Amino acid sequence: MDTPEAGAATGAVSRRDAGRTPPREVRAAEAGGAAPAGFPPVAEPQVALVGCTVFADPGWFPEWKTDGGGDAARLIEFAGRLCYMSFANPLGRTNRGYVENLLRQRHFSVIEHASVSVAVRGVSRSLTHELVRHRHFSFSQLSQRFVNEEEAAVVLPGEIRRAGLDGDALAAAAQAQQAYRQLAASLERGLRARVADRVARRKMARQAARAVLPNMTETMIVVSGNLRAWAGFLKKRGAPEAEPEIRGLALLVHPLLLRVAPEVFEHFRVCELEGVGWVLQTDIDFE
Ligand SMILES: Cc1cc2nc3c(=O)[nH]c(=O)nc-3n(C[C@H](O)[C@H](O)[C@H](O)COP(=O)(O)OP(=O)(O)OC[C@H]3O[C@@H](n4cnc5c(N)ncnc54)[C@H](O)[C@@H]3O)c2cc1C
Repeated sequence: MDTPEAGAATGAVSRRDAGRTPPREVRAAEAGGAAPAGFPPVAEPQVALVGCTVFADPGWFPEWKTDGGGDAARLIEFAGRLCYMSFANPLGRTNRGYVENLLRQRHFSVIEHASVSVAVRGVSRSLTHELVRHRHFSFSQLSQRFVNEEEAAVVLPGEIRRAGLDGDALAAAAQAQQAYRQLAASLERGLRARVADRVARRKMARQAARAVLPNMTETMIVVSGNLRAWAGFLKKRGAPEAEPEIRGLALLVHPLLLRVAPEVFEHFRVCELEGVGWVLQTDIDFE
């Protein structure tokens, strides 16, 4: 997942600006799953837009005639114009120009009004451990206390794939899952004497047994955040120094954000850096 296109090569050029060509939005799930018998299936990352803000003009300022933009951009313009009571648009700005000006002035709180929710699957628990550090997002993640992880898929880091060490990693995962299975079964048996409720017993067994599961275990998560939070995420996690799996996630989410608010997210460019792969760059100092 360290390149936006499966298997995309780092070109001979030292840096290729891919302009506004976003990486493939969703890498086909069927690209994964190819694991030898007895090994867990291999998951590939997938993202889906599952929610975004709808703008409802209260009609308080009939002089305001915006020239377009989606719900997010119109909400941003409305909130910005309310600050200065400039609904008559004395400078004759387009909606896109208005949002651009707000961003250039670092008037970032205005883009906090619009939000986007994204569902993510085919990513590792290592990735989500990094993702949940972004404190302005809201999360709902698959529970390893409730869900049986005996046959969970795994996510293989690109470095392991490139080195041809898939078999070693999958063997380690299969061994860990076998230990999980045995521990969960033994724990559940042992709990029968003191915990009558079967569901509670399973939860107690699974929440303890998950201790032996690897970081590469696949997980799913729904992430919601306002546009400023998403811009901050793209800036930090789309950067060359970011860990490759989460950088891949930033590259997958970018086209979804572009769909909701191109006026904001076209300020991120998809570039290919030699020796690094695909990254996101912006000249706006989002924070
Ligand atoms: C390349 C890279 C390497 C990393 N390595 C490590 C590591 O080794 N160990 C580790 O623990 N973490 C590491 N991190 C995680 C990093 O420290 C941050 O937790 C993560 O990037 C989230 O960013 P953030 O804290 O800036 O902002 P967010 O939580 O996304 O918040 C956005 C912004 O809000 C403001 N903000 C939020 N909360 C506060 C607050 N309490 N006080 C003041 N301002 C606030 C800040 O301006 C912040 O930048 C790494 C991150 C990256 C990108």
